[in-house]
Amino acid sequence: MNNRIPTSLGKPLLSTRFIGLVQKLKFLNKSILKWGGIMRIKSVEAKLYQVPLNGTYTIALGSMTQVEAVIIRIRTESGLTGLGEAMPFPPVTGADAEATLAFVRDLAPALQNYDASELGGIHTIMDKRSAGYSAAKAGVDIALYDILSRRARLPLYRFLGGSNPQVQTDITITIGSTEVMAARAKSFVEQGFRILKIKAGLDPGEDLAHLRAIREAVGPDVELRIDANQGWDEKTTLWALEKMTGLGIVEVEQPLPCWNLEGMRFVRERITQPLMLDESVHSPVDALKAVKTGAGDIINIKLMKCGGIYKAQKINAIAEAAGLSCMVGCMTETRIAITAGAHLAAALPNIKLADLDGFMEIKDEGCARGGFTRNGDILSLGSEPGLGVNVDFDAL
Ligand SMILES: [Mg+2]
Repeated sequence: MNNRIPTSLGKPLLSTRFIGLVQKLKFLNKSILKWGGIMRIKSVEAKLYQVPLNGTYTIALGSMTQVEAVIIRIRTESGLTGLGEAMPFPPVTGADAEATLAFVRDLAPALQNYDASELGGIHTIMDKRSAGYSAAKAGVDIALYDILSRRARLPLYRFLGGSNPQVQTDITITIGSTEVMAARAKSFVEQGFRILKIKAGLDPGEDLAHLRAIREAVGPDVELRIDANQGWDEKTTLWALEKMTGLGIVEVEQPLPCWNLEGMRFVRERITQPLMLDESVHSPVDALKAVKTGAGDIINIKLMKCGGIYKAQKINAIAEAAGLSCMVGCMTETRIAITAGAHLAAALPNIKLADLDGFMEIKDEGCARGGFTRNGDILSLGSEPGLGVNVDFDAL
């Protein structure tokens, strides 16, 4: 009989099949763990990363030529990896990079054996350790969302509920001489940027001269936002905006000190432009206070201020329910955190503006690649699962 398996050949064949079956089951088990099952955190690593800037970055809160980030890598037992970035800016976020690094390294053992999907529990652990360290919390949070969306095999913006991968960003003109600011503004417009955010708040007379020169340089069609970074008081704000009449200022961001919500309401009732809150709103609680006070029309959400995407969504929900819109802003972040911000902006319809230009201030764009491509002022997110950002973490 031709279809009869000879006994001498049958046993080895069966053994081979059995081994093959066991191997397949092992692979299947690993795949189930990786893509459908638990995502138990195996390790949380953090490294300090020195980030040189293209030049001197000056705003009303200070000048800098270099910043320091903490790059975070979280790995799960099933083999998934998430990348995060903490970019502290001490005048706003409190802790510096050294303290941020220490916070994450101290936190790491407490996160082991948590599931990466337990965002609420992990944020509770972080908040119980300290009310501050928002940048450190953001870095951990971004890495967790990278893991969750990778597991879901979706780009993060789609994991968060979005459908359009494109985000329009403004570009920031930092404080300098009138000639330099006007030249930079013109250059950015020539590169395709249609919205300029002009930094102000050191000297109101000079701010006025800067705005006039920039408008002259870029023509009438470019939108101008102004950000005084808490540098003015109520009278100065009203004086400056009166003098800037006709210059086409479309939004005014945080003219007064962060604590002065009553003053922001006073100004808001007397100007025609929407008033944006930045340093006044770090947390969902701050957002609620601002809403109750009537202190602004727009909230600038920054992942480094609020502690990441989990809290950012809460701030946006409070704003949306109260009839305020949101912007996603940034620090001088690498492509890791900028990409996370862009995914957030792409995902939530109430986030109507984006200020995601920080990576352009960084020399050679720093350690991270990918995430999005930029065409003029449009950031187009990729189709890879997760953030879609690549970093050679071991080489940092
Ligand atoms: Mg601002």
